[in-house]
Amino acid sequence: MLSYSGTFFIILLGLEFLINGWDPDFFLMWIIVASASVVIVDISNNHKINNLTTVNKQLHYIEELTQALRTSTNLNAVLGLVLKNLTEELKYDRVLIFSLETDENKKELLRPVSAIGIDFESVKNFTFKLDKSLDMVPRVAIERMGYIIKNAADDYRCSQLFVNLLGLKEYIILPLVVKNVAVGVLLADNVLNKKRIEEIDLVPLTSFANQVAMGIENAKLYQKIEYLAIVDGLTNVYNHRYFLDSLREELARMIRYEKEGMLSLIMLDVDHFKSYNDKNGHLAGDAVLVEIGQILKSLCRQVDVVARYGGEEFIIMLPSTGKDGAIILAERIRKEIEEHAFEFRAGQPGGRLTVSLGVSAFGIDGNTPDLLIKKADSGLYEAKEAGRNRVCSK
Ligand code: GH3
Ligand code: MG
Ligand code: MG
Repeated sequence: MLSYSGTFFIILLGLEFLINGWDPDFFLMWIIVASASVVIVDISNNHKINNLTTVNKQLHYIEELTQALRTSTNLNAVLGLVLKNLTEELKYDRVLIFSLETDENKKELLRPVSAIGIDFESVKNFTFKLDKSLDMVPRVAIERMGYIIKNAADDYRCSQLFVNLLGLKEYIILPLVVKNVAVGVLLADNVLNKKRIEEIDLVPLTSFANQVAMGIENAKLYQKIEYLAIVDGLTNVYNHRYFLDSLREELARMIRYEKEGMLSLIMLDVDHFKSYNDKNGHLAGDAVLVEIGQILKSLCRQVDVVARYGGEEFIIMLPSTGKDGAIILAERIRKEIEEHAFEFRAGQPGGRLTVSLGVSAFGIDGNTPDLLIKKADSGLYEAKEAGRNRVCSK
């Protein structure tokens, strides 16, 4: 196609011919100028084509990533995939992803969750409140708009503490948005390879960020569903089914590899709970169950499985713990609950809210889930029979 400048020169040549007749010098000059114009237009077109090819290629990677993100339900796997694509395909040196979270005071903040090319340990505690005067990180989340920062050290919008921590100079920063709500922020730069970041890079990276946001949200939703499926809705300890699955799995593993290993169970039931409910109402009873769940979790280790067995009964699986250790823990639980200032406890027998506990252990009391649970239950029955507020084991 003839460029605008080419057309202009042909008209000029025609006019010169009409006005002055044929002039070989003017014709030569015209040839030189027209050729230079064609070369310049060609270089500029080539540059545009190169840019478009790169963007096209990047959009293709993003399409592939979208497919992968749709099928991935694990948050860490999603984040790993995102970082790999950003460095290997989109060729950024360093990437940092922030997630919008709520802290213990119900305040929203942006917390680093994943990084590549950056020592994550050194940045993991660098959180930002949602205040755009603090840095570009909260700003892009609030404005839901991407930016390219050319010189971070001289930019009043950048926190110099953060700039120095990462050695930021030129970087691209984008919000991760799902359904018009920012769920995080993505920051990328080329501090090592020094490749310039251009305005045109905003297009593929924005499209990428949208997919990332969706992938992260999907994975979080899946995690939440998984959590809800295994946790008791009232007390926040594990549910009956999760407990049984864990016990079966642990016993099968022990029978296969660790026949001499240790494992114990503690079963616990609230004493005179019916009368507590009758006097104080079902909601007050629920509050007691929630508090007991918290006490149990606070006294157990991470590896122990604390579960609600049903109604006002709880059960705990203690891996690598023998019967003596389990009895000591059961006694500590009994004492802690007896001393805990539950609301309305004065109305209970003896002026205290108490529990009875039964203990069983792998090997001594059996090797199957059914036997171990049955023996812990027998201990509990014995504790009730003997007057409650005590620990028994058969
Ligand atoms: P014991 O000392 O022999 O265990 O007496 P108890 O009154 O605790 O035993 P019982 O089995 O007669 O009563 C259990 C009560 O637990 C009855 C029921 O209302 C109450 N309960 C079971 N699940 C829940 C619950 O989710 N919330 C509340 N508030 N109460 C519950
Ligand atoms: Mg009961
Ligand atoms: Mg009871």
